Amino acid sequence: MYSLPHKRNDGPMDIPTLTDIPSLTDIPSLTDIDDQMDYADLSDDMLDWYDANARILPWRISPVESQGGIKAIPYHIWLSEIMLQQTTVQTVIPYFQKFLHKWPRVEDLAAAELDQVLTAWAGLGYYARARNLHKCALYVRDELGGIFPDTEEELLKLPGIGAYTAAAIASIAFERPATVVDGNVERVISRLFNIKTPLPDAKAEIKQMARKITPRHRPGDYAQAVMDLGATVCTPKILKCSGRCPWEKACLSKKEGTAEQLPLRRSKGAKPTRRGYAFWGEYEGFVWLRRRPEEGLLGGMMEIPSTPWQETKNWAEVPAPQVPIITNWKEMQGLVRHSFTHFHLELKVIKLDFAEKIDHQEGDWFPLARLEDFALPTVMTKIVDHVREPVLDL
Ligand code: SF4
Repeated sequence: MYSLPHKRNDGPMDIPTLTDIPSLTDIPSLTDIDDQMDYADLSDDMLDWYDANARILPWRISPVESQGGIKAIPYHIWLSEIMLQQTTVQTVIPYFQKFLHKWPRVEDLAAAELDQVLTAWAGLGYYARARNLHKCALYVRDELGGIFPDTEEELLKLPGIGAYTAAAIASIAFERPATVVDGNVERVISRLFNIKTPLPDAKAEIKQMARKITPRHRPGDYAQAVMDLGATVCTPKILKCSGRCPWEKACLSKKEGTAEQLPLRRSKGAKPTRRGYAFWGEYEGFVWLRRRPEEGLLGGMMEIPSTPWQETKNWAEVPAPQVPIITNWKEMQGLVRHSFTHFHLELKVIKLDFAEKIDHQEGDWFPLARLEDFALPTVMTKIVDHVREPVLDL
């Protein structure tokens, strides 16, 4: 068994751009490839490799169990797939176990309060997933009698389930021959077929080629096998696949020596930075918090109130803070930094000086000692940490 972490969406840092690869000539056409490859052999070889090398994961049934007729549990597969979006396997394992312990069936998860789910989710990030998870559990309990649908088409109708997740659940939980393509599979397939179209433009081509190999026999094991190969052997950077990959002889990028440079990705601009001021109001063991609007980034989560986060080139462009409560205040030294998918965030913290617990239309006072109960998103816990121990690297 291998134990390397596996990320469903490998970031652009791991993937070279078009300019890094010297030649786009001599690319075989799809017909040439069809002549060279025996797709049934490829899927058989992959399944043999999986039988010997499958990772042991708490939501997964082993190849021996699967061939013995034991079926994966749809609730487990769905829960793990939602958690694995944007998150490594190693990070997800303890969360998956905690969720199953608290809510062993989808009906139990549906019966939980949303805040309980968000609290248990804290640290996994991308909180919209947790909100959709709960919404989906309610839908499956109330509309489907607690039974997950078994086709991609029906799964796609559920909250929080996109094309990848629907294919993964249909294939792994229900043995449907769906073509499952995540970041690992994209890498493996683009190398196997030496696909030099940069991502994201290559997605359709990759899916078309992946579909050719997807077997009708053991499609769930096959999908997990390719993902495992991408996570453990056909990895983004260190490519030591000789003698370890079942597709070594067929692999076109291995023959051409381009494997380590694939997949290509269209170069993107740098992420912008947004800046703002967070207001820390503390009085006799209580802290002032408010709830974010339901829609949008960190929707419905508790937050330390702040000015709007504005995209600027530097701090000189950030308007002076409008302190929301008339009181004395002091700007703390240092910055709180956090990165979201589409932007970096820098916050300066302003400490408000209260002589009493002033009521404010936005937000309320909460006991500092119980902050852990409020499912604060990571960026907010960074503010709390900064107040307790300022980070001074400006
Ligand atoms: S031979 Fe190497 S590059 Fe090609 S698919 Fe296998 S692990 Fe990936």
